[in-house]
Amino acid sequence: MTTDQIYDVVIIGGGVVGCATLFHLINNGYNCIMLEKNKDLVAEASAGNSGMLHTGFDAPLGSLELHCIQQCQLHIFDILNKLDLPYNRIGATMVAWDSAQMSKLPKIMQHSRISNLSEINQLSLSELYQREPNLSRNATGAIHIPGETIVDPWLTPMVMAEHARIRGAKIYTRNIGSKIVINCSGLYGDIVEKIAGYSSFKIKPRKGQYLIFNKTAKDVISSSILPVPTEITKGVIVFKSVYDNVIIGPTAEETEDRHPSPTIDSVITKRLWNHGKKTVPSLLKHDIVHMYTGVRPATENKDYQIIARPDRNWLTVGGIRSTGLSGCIGIANHILSQVKDKFGIEPSKSSWETIQKVNFKFTKNGTVMFPYGIEHLITHPLTFTGVTRQMISQSNL
Ligand SMILES: Cc1cc2nc3c(=O)[nH]c(=O)nc-3n(C[C@H](O)[C@H](O)[C@H](O)COP(=O)(O)OP(=O)(O)OC[C@H]3O[C@@H](n4cnc5c(N)ncnc54)[C@H](O)[C@@H]3O)c2cc1C
Repeated sequence: MTTDQIYDVVIIGGGVVGCATLFHLINNGYNCIMLEKNKDLVAEASAGNSGMLHTGFDAPLGSLELHCIQQCQLHIFDILNKLDLPYNRIGATMVAWDSAQMSKLPKIMQHSRISNLSEINQLSLSELYQREPNLSRNATGAIHIPGETIVDPWLTPMVMAEHARIRGAKIYTRNIGSKIVINCSGLYGDIVEKIAGYSSFKIKPRKGQYLIFNKTAKDVISSSILPVPTEITKGVIVFKSVYDNVIIGPTAEETEDRHPSPTIDSVITKRLWNHGKKTVPSLLKHDIVHMYTGVRPATENKDYQIIARPDRNWLTVGGIRSTGLSGCIGIANHILSQVKDKFGIEPSKSSWETIQKVNFKFTKNGTVMFPYGIEHLITHPLTFTGVTRQMISQSNL
């Protein structure tokens, strides 16, 4: 093997975490290769999310998750602007529907203030209905989180990966050598860990299901309508994609199956429909154009599992459960500092000073063309539906 076949870093897994890590490390001068087992990048947990950049309102205080989300918030908007990627700082309105939920709102406000998150404001009921006139009149209280943002959940990591490729990163599988391996393999994180002889966590897949409505519904909400979160989940959200589809979801069900898009469950579909009826009744006058599912790479731990193993030149990046998009650049930055500090590896090239726009074009057959004739299948249903509008019959309900 010649020296130019020795990379600084191998990244296993091309989901949002692997793509953001590749983007950040190559920009900092590391010679990287990313290995993905699938034909397409961003086709597993990262292809089944809501596309929301959360501000961290329910991430535990002092957690690595909260730290990475805050770091991501500091840098991601500059990156999205420079890459000319769509996003909408639409804000979110967390609505309490009974006294038990109402009693949790002060704690959420206090948590956000202590952790120095973006602005968060209590709303009176009249302020709530002024902002969201189509909401059901059964609300008991609400808070507004202006920083909650929606992005294109497929284009964001894909353009980061293509930006890295333009700067010399390799994205494929072949015989290679590297100084360290970074395990970003999502739903297979614990299985890939065993290659290096570790078993410090177990993936406990958690399914989520969604209904996507026609763009005719775009004016029924003006912010993302959040429920009051529980210990287990953020709950079912009514939100709008960057392409103006209104979506209800995701649910949260434990599953044994690691398949990234499990079958649609009609009982859950009904539950989502009822959530819409209870929350924004007028939404249901509009057609459902698509439904999808996703699976979160949860573990028995609430926090991310980012563990440096210098004795094996192995960096574990696992259990990026439900905020991998929101924290992606913060995670990548944490990885960068671990590569330097825990493994003592310096970049083999100089850092890039700037981020440049990557040109891409949607095609009629559900793909996107990137520079050098590279074509990617759109694997995320929010992006796919937003740009192609696939109709399904409401009679499936
Ligand atoms: C229903 C739902 C809603 C969500 N909503 C949000 C949201 O709104 N905002 C947010 O921030 N987050 C959200 N998330 C969480 C977010 O999607 C995840 O945190 C994120 O996708 C995890 O990314 P990852 O790169 O770790 O995993 P993945 O996307 O699963 O990527 C891992 C990759 O590793 C590859 N791989 C596995 N094994 C190997 C191997 N042996 N060799 C090579 N490659 C391998 C896989 O093929 C895969 O491509 C949601 C998740 C779900 C399911």
